[in-house]
Amino acid sequence: MFLHVQELLSRREPEEFQGSFDLAERFRDVRDVIPLSPLEYRLTAHALNGRIGVTGELSCKLRLLCSRCLTPIDEPFVIPFEEQFQVMKESDPEPDEDVDFVPVTGERIDLRPFMEEELLVHLPLAPICSEDCKGLCPECGTNRNEQACNCNTERLDPRLEALQDWYKPE
Ligand SMILES: [Zn+2]
Ligand SMILES: [Zn+2]
Repeated sequence: MFLHVQELLSRREPEEFQGSFDLAERFRDVRDVIPLSPLEYRLTAHALNGRIGVTGELSCKLRLLCSRCLTPIDEPFVIPFEEQFQVMKESDPEPDEDVDFVPVTGERIDLRPFMEEELLVHLPLAPICSEDCKGLCPECGTNRNEQACNCNTERLDPRLEALQDWYKPE
């Protein structure tokens, strides 16, 4: 999805874009994330004084894995998108690192990597299937949401452990 820089700069009206692209390639090497739909975008690009602002919304459906019990979670995502591009001339000095825009010099801007990046930063680090997911038993691997197991995984206070030995029935 390309923005055409000169065309936008010479327009007075904002330009609207919508479309979609496939996410499979981007997530090929990302464990625990399976795209269930293309990424859809609805964006408006507005050029003013050599600056191109792009705002809008991204949406897609992804399958994530619960970080506790590994159950698949199919979830729709709707994410706001905003990016500022500053059109630079060859003679312009390098901008500082902490500017709030992306310097661009070419004739066109590929928005796809910016959209993919925005989606990535919005993904939960540790998705969970529900607030009270009990997770997998670290001993036997049983999904403790589905059934209880007999493993004793409570860590006892070492002093209590000593007492427990003491009271062990013969
Ligand atoms: Zn879970
Ligand atoms: Zn167990």
